[in-house]
Formats: sequence, C-alpha cells, structure tokens
Amino acid sequence: MRTIKLPDTIKLPTLLDPWDQQEPSGPDATGIYNFYRNLAEGDLTTTKCKDCGKMNFPPTMLCSNCLSNNLEWVKIPEEGELYAFSVMALGVPLIIDTYAPFVVAIARFGDYPENGVQISGIIFDSKYEELKIGDKVKWEVIEIQGPGEKKRYWYCFRKI
Ligand SMILES: [Zn+2]
Repeated sequence: MRTIKLPDTIKLPTLLDPWDQQEPSGPDATGIYNFYRNLAEGDLTTTKCKDCGKMNFPPTMLCSNCLSNNLEWVKIPEEGELYAFSVMALGVPLIIDTYAPFVVAIARFGDYPENGVQISGIIFDSKYEELKIGDKVKWEVIEIQGPGEKKRYWYCFRKI
C-alpha cells in the first residue's frame, strides 16, 4: 500500500478538516463514517439508491436523483476508464506539495452514468506522457500518516 507522510504541524479549521468524519460517534460524526471505515479496510465505496438505482459519489445521505434516503453502501468497481487528466505542478496544496508534479485525473467506474460513478483522483505512478483518454485504470487505497499519530486513508488511481 502506498503511504503518504504529512508533517506534524498542520492545523486546519474544523470545517476544512473532513477527517473528523471518520469517527463513528461524537459531535462530528456523520453517516459518511462508513466511507472512511471501508477505505481503512481496503475498499473504495459509495452510496447507491435502493429506490432508483443511482450510484452517488461522493457518498450522500440523500439520493441526488430522487432525494430518497433509502441508500446502501456498495463497493465501486475496481477497474475503470480514464476520462480526463492533467498535470498538477503549481498551486499544489502545501501538505502534498513535495509529491508534485503529479497527474490528476477523472475516471469512470462501472456503467456510468446509469450504474457507475465518475470520480477524480491522483495518479502517482504514471507520467502525463504515458497516459491517454480511455486507458484502463484501477483505484487503490493509500495510507496517509499524520499529522501526529493519526492514520487516515484515501484513494488514488493506477494505470493497468
Ligand atoms: Zn434515487
């Protein structure tokens, strides 16, 4: 598993730090907790509407299509297709600027838009010149260390 190490001195305002939503209880708890728990267990998941079948990303508590709250957590198909990409070399957020330049991409997983999602992510292991629209990609979970002892999880894409 890829690991990203963050410095120990980051302090974000509460509203800008979504990581508290990883907690299953407490004042910052939300229904999005499952997203982070599933990432920690190695799965990229999202919510799918049981009424109309729409898969939403990011996961939501209400379906963006029919506003139903009758949702279930589903694993996003592991293999997808590169839809768009660019290089991020300048203006990279300070906490990951040491990893720049890197490719940022939009990829489609599943049968988008009927039964799939279109999501953005970083591709660390391919250069811009090595990629083309339509390339097969897969998502993989990455571990983010810090600040401090906290361990967090996110995802990136890899060309296959
Ligand atoms: Zn729906």
